[in-house]
Amino acid sequence: MSPTPDIRTLLERARTDLASRSDAPLLDAQVLLAHTLGRELSWLYAHPEYHPDTAQCNDFDNLVARRRDGEPVAHLTGRREFWSLPLAVDASTLVPRPETEHLVEAVLALELPNDAKVLDLGCGSGAIALALACERPMWMVTATDRSTMALNLARRNAETLDLAHIRFIAGCWYEPLPPDERFDLIVSNPPYIATTDPHLEQSDLRFEPRSALVSGEDGLDDIRIIIDGASAHLAPDGWLWLEHGYDQGEQVAELLQRAGYDCTSYRRDLAGHVRCTGGRGPDLSDV
Ligand code: GLN
Repeated sequence: MSPTPDIRTLLERARTDLASRSDAPLLDAQVLLAHTLGRELSWLYAHPEYHPDTAQCNDFDNLVARRRDGEPVAHLTGRREFWSLPLAVDASTLVPRPETEHLVEAVLALELPNDAKVLDLGCGSGAIALALACERPMWMVTATDRSTMALNLARRNAETLDLAHIRFIAGCWYEPLPPDERFDLIVSNPPYIATTDPHLEQSDLRFEPRSALVSGEDGLDDIRIIIDGASAHLAPDGWLWLEHGYDQGEQVAELLQRAGYDCTSYRRDLAGHVRCTGGRGPDLSDV
């Protein structure tokens, strides 16, 4: 029987194989091989001459083939790190993105009460709610999602990370909340891609749930719903912060201002695009 290839050879082969499909073909190959072998990346770097057995080589080749067809690495390994938290992910939710860490940073910089009541709308895998609960253990975090599969995943992540004090509620945006419940901070990374955006057919996005990605003709339908509904659920001086598309910053700021928010402010992503925008709630004193 011919010997199996060593790690260096397997990685080089996979890198070439993935070059046309991925922006980071070598890293994808390394993550998939480490996953197949049940090892850390550092172990791979230290053992380029190790020969995985035949079954492991076959498993790795299968994963590389699926990646070549566009499946996100996080779906293939079942995990993704967000805010340094290892999260379980699956096809029921959006894969947490580094851009969303800017939203977490933005809201952690706000001046909020020590025991702030915080709402994460459309929590998906739980990325935002978990990061906030981890950074601010005294905050009372509620997370909603209309997908019960997503909510189960988020709950499981919370248990694994020992952040079991988060309240998870199934339902669309504000619907599952008591009508008079108010929060010091409402945060969301809602769907914001336009229905006709060609990227939806081209990239890893094909493998993520449409409902987590797409929001009407201009991508802003859900953002409008969230802004409209927020005044009924924000405490006096409460903040609403939203992630949005790289080119939607001005529109979101305008929607917030028109709805009476002041102190609107934003954060840029590493590419320099305004990626999240927030504002302090409308003054309700004379309503
Ligand atoms: N809040 C989740 C995240 O940021 C899910 C977002 C979504 O499904 N649009 O990963």
